[in-house]
Amino acid sequence: MKKLMAANWKMFKTWDEAQATARGLVELAAAKLPQDREVLVCPPFTCLKAVSDAFSGVPGFATGGQDFYFREEGAFTGEISPAMLRDVGAAYGLTGHSERRHVLGEDDAYIGQKTAFGLSAGLRVILCIGELIDERRAGRVEEVLERQLRLGLKDVPLDVSPERISVAYEPVWAIGTGEVAGPEEILAAHAFTRKTMAAILGKKANEMRILYGGSVKPSNCAEIIALDNVDGVLVGGASLQSESFSQIVLA
Ligand code: PGA
Repeated sequence: MKKLMAANWKMFKTWDEAQATARGLVELAAAKLPQDREVLVCPPFTCLKAVSDAFSGVPGFATGGQDFYFREEGAFTGEISPAMLRDVGAAYGLTGHSERRHVLGEDDAYIGQKTAFGLSAGLRVILCIGELIDERRAGRVEEVLERQLRLGLKDVPLDVSPERISVAYEPVWAIGTGEVAGPEEILAAHAFTRKTMAAILGKKANEMRILYGGSVKPSNCAEIIALDNVDGVLVGGASLQSESFSQIVLA
C-alpha cells in the first residue's frame, strides 16, 4: 500500500499562488519521491486546474477537491459535482472534513451520501473523521469515530477497490492548533478505525489507507508516518509552502 501524503489548502491561495506552490513542490519533491509514496494536493476549486496542470505527467502526483455535492448536475447554487472535479484533473475528493462538519454544519448522513456518490462518480474519496476535545475528555472517542464511520461509509459498495476509499483520522483539537496527537493516541484511534472499517466493509479494509491529520509538520511527520496503521498524512497549515510540504512528502 503506497503512503498518501496529502495537502489540504483550505481557503487559501489565488491562481498564481497555487501555480507557484505546485510548481515549487514538483521541483523539490518529484525526482526524490519514493516509489511507495503518492502526493495529493487539494486546492480551492478555483485553482484546481492550475495545480492539475502543474502536476500533469509527474508520476505519483494527483489533485483532489476539498468537497463536492452528491448530484451529477442541477439547480444547486454554489455546489460542485464530482464530474466537474474530474474535468479539471482531480482524482480525489475529501468528505466530512472537520471544518465542513463543525463550521459549515454538515451531518453524518449528508457526508455519507457524498462519500458514496463520489465513489460512484469515479472519484477516490477520503472520508475525514475525528472527535472534539470535549468528546475525548468524556471518554467518547470510539463512540464518535464509530458513528462517523458507520454513517460515513454506509452506502459504500462492498466491492469497492480498496485504493479508492481512505479514511483520515483528524482529532479536531489537533487541527491548526499546533497540538499534535501523541503516538499512543494515534495508534489507538487508527487501530480502532481499522477494526471498525473491517466490520463495515470486510477484510479488504486492511488494504485501505488510514491517514492521520492534525498539526503535521516537517519535524513530526517521520515519526507519525512510521506508526502502525498510519498510511499517510493529511496536512493543512504546513502544506501551504512548497518547502515545508516537500519536507513532509519526503520525510
Ligand atoms: P493542520 O490541518 O495540518 O493545519 O492541523 C489539517 C487538516 O485540517 O486537514
